[in-house]
Amino acid sequence: MRAIDVAPLPLSHLESHLDEVAVRRLRDTVTAAHALLEGRTVWTVTPSAAGAGPAEITGPLVGYARGAGLDARWLTLDAPAQFQQIAARLYAGVHGDQGDGGRLGDRQRDVYEHVLASNADNVVEELREGDVVILHDPPTAGLAKAVRATGASVVWRCHAGAAATGDAADYAWAFLDRYLEDVDLVVVSRPEYRPPYIEEERCAVLAPSIDADSPKNRVLDLDESWSVARLSGIFAGEAPFQAVPFVRHDGRADAFRGLAEDPVLAGGPVPLGCRVVTQVSRWDRLKGGLELVEAFTRHLSLLPQDCHLLLLGPAPDPGHDPEAAAVLAAVVERCSVLPESVASRIHVAAASMEDREVNATVVNAVQRVSSVVTQRSLVEAFGLTVAEAMWKKVPVVASAVGGIRDQIEDGVDGVLVDPADGAAWASAVADLLLFPERAAEMGAAAHESVRREFLPNRHLQDMLEILTRVVP
Ligand code: UDP
Repeated sequence: MRAIDVAPLPLSHLESHLDEVAVRRLRDTVTAAHALLEGRTVWTVTPSAAGAGPAEITGPLVGYARGAGLDARWLTLDAPAQFQQIAARLYAGVHGDQGDGGRLGDRQRDVYEHVLASNADNVVEELREGDVVILHDPPTAGLAKAVRATGASVVWRCHAGAAATGDAADYAWAFLDRYLEDVDLVVVSRPEYRPPYIEEERCAVLAPSIDADSPKNRVLDLDESWSVARLSGIFAGEAPFQAVPFVRHDGRADAFRGLAEDPVLAGGPVPLGCRVVTQVSRWDRLKGGLELVEAFTRHLSLLPQDCHLLLLGPAPDPGHDPEAAAVLAAVVERCSVLPESVASRIHVAAASMEDREVNATVVNAVQRVSSVVTQRSLVEAFGLTVAEAMWKKVPVVASAVGGIRDQIEDGVDGVLVDPADGAAWASAVADLLLFPERAAEMGAAAHESVRREFLPNRHLQDMLEILTRVVP
């Protein structure tokens, strides 16, 4: 396992976004957390350090906990490609999906257990009785037994989920069953995502949050946003803005480097001056990238002439994540066979994750310069990208699935559409482009609902309640 350094984040940053009542409540939470956790370390273990939901929310939560004077630490797995393939099958299964259709049999179990045993080896000595370990998602569940043997309490938090049952879900949950026996509490994003064999008393519901001050979400004005969007190579053309240098989160002006030389794999760079509808997501079939390209292509006539589509995701490492590489290749391939008049309006970009701050700033800038952000997932336990766009006051058109339905009040702070209905998606986008005032109202309402429900103060509060249930 690898330890990720997390700098303490001052709670004053978080408080600057809150009203008085929320600030008082946050301070009470911190006092109660000290009383509960004094002398204990709270460890968070995520499958990876970047590019996916669990990693996104862990940095700020651990950062604010450290900022509050608590001993919180973050570890990530070291895992070979073979393990990633099994992890992808588990994720798909928990989402009620077949994934690559591959097995989760004895051989896969051997690999899973072997990789996790070697990950556990270099960390169990550091755990002390009374510590709390929060494992995230199916790839880490197999650590529970080794962790529990140290006398630490174990929480397993699953960000994936679907109310669906069926063979794929049954296989995935059957695979995870024996590991979850060693978990004190299971945490899911919605009540109906509780694993079939976990009793209600051993399950809690917790929604994620976004950090308003992170490189991904911090305020960038339009000049900065357009400048970063163009520096990234994803946008090109005559600038409708004043070009400003790239400034890092800590205020350091820096040469802009870190994205692949040419991140755009289809459609060329997005021409400045057009209106862009953007989806930011991992290259996972369940994110609905192909379906999004299909909806845009088939219903192009509903959309204004200057409307382009951008799909942005992390550049996959084919050796490490062949699944993602295959999904990205399928999207690019689909675009390559479209007539030029359509293909030139669909842009597919894969941004390097090498410099995480650069990647996050690019995502931030691209979300801000988009006229509409979309998340056309087929399933989604909670869409961080939805919350990120809402915080930026960008109108969102998203699938009416899973946790997205808890995030968006349809017609008030965003638009929900049936993921199977491409025409409804295109009309919703067209409406927002046609009525910018309506879109701006929706964006403002979206910002407020994220402030109320999806910032780390609410998340820390709920997390503390959960820890109260497991700390002896
Ligand atoms: N993300 C990113 N760079 C990318 C694509 C995605 O930083 O190129 C981030 C995205 O901004 C979001 C997270 O990865 O914060 C994805 O979380 P989400 O809940 O949308 O989906 P998940 O990957 O957890 O299924």
